[in-house]
Amino acid sequence: MAIRTILTQEDPALSKLCHPVTQFDSKLADLLDDLKETLAQANGMGLAAPQVGILRRVAIVVLEDESFLEMVNPEILAQEGEQTGWEGCLSLPGMWGSVKRPDWVKIRAQDRNGQWFEMEGTDMTARCFCHEISHLDGHMYTELTDRLYTAEELDEILANEGDQEKQVKRERRGRRR
Ligand SMILES: [Zn+2]
Repeated sequence: MAIRTILTQEDPALSKLCHPVTQFDSKLADLLDDLKETLAQANGMGLAAPQVGILRRVAIVVLEDESFLEMVNPEILAQEGEQTGWEGCLSLPGMWGSVKRPDWVKIRAQDRNGQWFEMEGTDMTARCFCHEISHLDGHMYTELTDRLYTAEELDEILANEGDQEKQVKRERRGRRR
């Protein structure tokens, strides 16, 4: 396994349409392992292959129980509701935006062996599914927000919100994808 370099927003790889995975081989397994290691080291919530320069439909998200979900050729099957929340991206360090996403999302994807599975996610997980799958289509969350905030600005806004529950949420929301 190896830590890969996370590309930043200026890199053309981040605006490209990624190709479906057709070979479920050791190269794919290595990529998934590297994405996991890179994501863990960055303490992020999700990471997509184009963020490390690989234009394939592969992404990882961190689930509520902190386990990693590997998604190969993921697609959104259904979505419902609406949530607005803070979003950041490992490819845009130090910036945050308020982004509207569905509150419930159902996806299907393949695992590293090519087996299809379906999964539902709410709240942060739904947000992560949308954020990562958008990366595979060459889109960044910045397209969905009016303005970006620095970490200092976000801290100030969240501090004013106060209560304990929001502080806990803030810790999760403060992690990038
Ligand atoms: Zn991202």
